[in-house]
Amino acid sequence: MQAAFKHILIAVDLTEDARSVAEKACALRTAFDADLSCTHVIEPLSLAYGGDVPMDLSTIQDQLQETAKIQLDEFAQTLNIPSENRHLVYGRPETEIHSLAEELGVDLIVVGSHGRHGLALLLGSTANGVLQGSPCDVLAVRVGD
Ligand code: AMP
Repeated sequence: MQAAFKHILIAVDLTEDARSVAEKACALRTAFDADLSCTHVIEPLSLAYGGDVPMDLSTIQDQLQETAKIQLDEFAQTLNIPSENRHLVYGRPETEIHSLAEELGVDLIVVGSHGRHGLALLLGSTANGVLQGSPCDVLAVRVGD
């Protein structure tokens, strides 16, 4: 059988939900004998707060990066994802996940989806953002039920 997916990218928010998203991604990796990469996107505090905070945010940002690196490494290790396939990047999750998917030439992105409704649906979600304009297939794994 020709492999339908050769390289899978799992996007993780490093919450409890990441585990169930990972289970699905790993099942597909095994089924298609695919490569597996993972990414976590750190949103710059300056993006969230703009110029509204009258203090230097760089120390906090550095600490956030250090913590995220440790957590992403722990997560990736449990899934046997080699260090060269772990990507900690800065920016807006949707944009960075698309760029990385293109750069790596992945053919499937796996994300979690909370199946929101009401106001949260109107405001959108990361899963919706990743789906729109994605350079490849996207699997949205239902989480948080
Ligand atoms: P959300 O819409 O923010 O609840 O996130 C849904 C899914 O998007 C998560 O389960 C992850 O797969 C992905 N995601 C959210 N935030 C990030 C992030 N900062 N880095 C990578 N993936 C993320």
